[in-house]
Order: sequence, then C-alpha cells, then structure tokens
Amino acid sequence: MLPTRLTSFLKSAGLAQTRCAYCLSPFTPEDPARNPFRGPAPLCPACAPLFALSAFPRCQHCALPTGTEAALCGECLSTPPPWKSIAAYGLYQGALRNAILRLKFGGEIPLASLIGACLDKITTALPPPDALTPIPQHPRHLRRRGFNQAHEIAKALHRCSGLPLRAGLLRRTAPHTPQTGLASTERRRETRHFFEATTQARGLRIWLVDDVMTTGVTMRAAAQALLAGGALETAVIIAARTPRMSSHVQQ
Ligand SMILES: [Zn+2]
Ligand SMILES: [Zn+2]
Repeated sequence: MLPTRLTSFLKSAGLAQTRCAYCLSPFTPEDPARNPFRGPAPLCPACAPLFALSAFPRCQHCALPTGTEAALCGECLSTPPPWKSIAAYGLYQGALRNAILRLKFGGEIPLASLIGACLDKITTALPPPDALTPIPQHPRHLRRRGFNQAHEIAKALHRCSGLPLRAGLLRRTAPHTPQTGLASTERRRETRHFFEATTQARGLRIWLVDDVMTTGVTMRAAAQALLAGGALETAVIIAARTPRMSSHVQQ
C-alpha cells in the first residue's frame, strides 16, 4: 500500500487522529507546516490560537507589563534584578493560566510538555546556557504534591531543545538566623525564599525555569544564591508573568 493511500485509509478509519494536549479532544492533524504546535504536545485548530505568543509591552528586566515598549518598571529601576535576561511566554491569564493550574493542582503532568514547547519557542534565539535548572519546590510542598511543576516544565524544555538539565543546582534552605520570636506561619513565610546553590553551579551560565513569576522575590533569591555560589550568570525563563498593580507603572 502506498504511503498516501495508507494515510487516506487511516484518516477515513479515524486512525490518523491525535489528541489535543489542552482540550484532550481527538483531532486529525493538519499540514504540520501550518500548525506550530505539533510534536509531543499537539494542539487542535481550536486550541492553537489560545496559546499564540503574546507580545505584550513589558519591563525588559522582569517582564512586568508596563504599557509602553522598552520600559523598565519602578522596582527594576531602583533595584535591578540579579539575572542577565528574562524570557516570558505570556501573561498569567486565559488558557496559559488554566494549563498551569491544571498541571500544578490537577496533576496533569502531560501539560508540562505543552508549556515546555511554548518556552522552546521563546528561547531559541538566546545564547544557550550550560544548564537549565528548575526553581526547587519547598520539601513540604513536594511531599504533598508529589512533583515539582517547575521541574516538569524544565524537563519538557530539555526534551524540546536538547539543552542540558541540571536539577540539583539549587536547594531550599532555612535561614541561619534564629527566628524563635516569630509565629509558625510567619516563620514559614520568612523561610520561603531562602536558597542555597550546590558546588556544581560554579562557573555555569544557568537558565532558571519556573511556571509563574508574581512578585519576583523568589526568583531574585534563587538567582542571587546561584551567583553567590559561583555561577557566571543567570537568565530567567518563565511560562507566565502575573500582571501586578504598581504605583510605579502606568497600566
Ligand atoms: Zn484542543
Ligand atoms: Zn521590572
């Protein structure tokens, strides 16, 4: 049987269908050249536009929506972040937000492949790093959830791009100063942003991968820890940026 006849036979029998990574509906893939979302996380024609890359005006340092091109937000003007560059696929809203929530809280691990494929699109033009590393999950959250969504996304980006993944460059740690005066909830809040780099980070150019960046406090702490541990430079790769009302920014 000729390949073209085989294809038309499979289509007529409904066997050439695949499953949309987002809505999970079966569909027959169109010409691969016309659908940018193919491979491990294909999107059906209805869902592909929901994940179109959005070129929103943003702060060049932290990707906060600024309303104007080539602007820096007030926080980055007063306290520049420690990373060299940032890439964000979109805003934390709509289908992208929903996919992240389903991955994170619904345990739909295959959605990490879709998010990883999105990140691959925005990072191909960047100088490649020596290592991708995810923001580590707090051990308490990891025990409860059973997986780290940032690690799953970094693994997916690694599969798309072939860039080396080194998940053990950072770990969460407790502060060195005693905080016995604080209530347990305050103590938990205070310890949330403490990281320590392992010796393996020394001399590396590292991409820090995470699902969402909200205030940037966690990311700043993680990047600072890597640099303090001897990393050469860091870049931040995030799926979504949370719009944040700020007195410094004209929305
Ligand atoms: Zn779909
Ligand atoms: Zn900024």
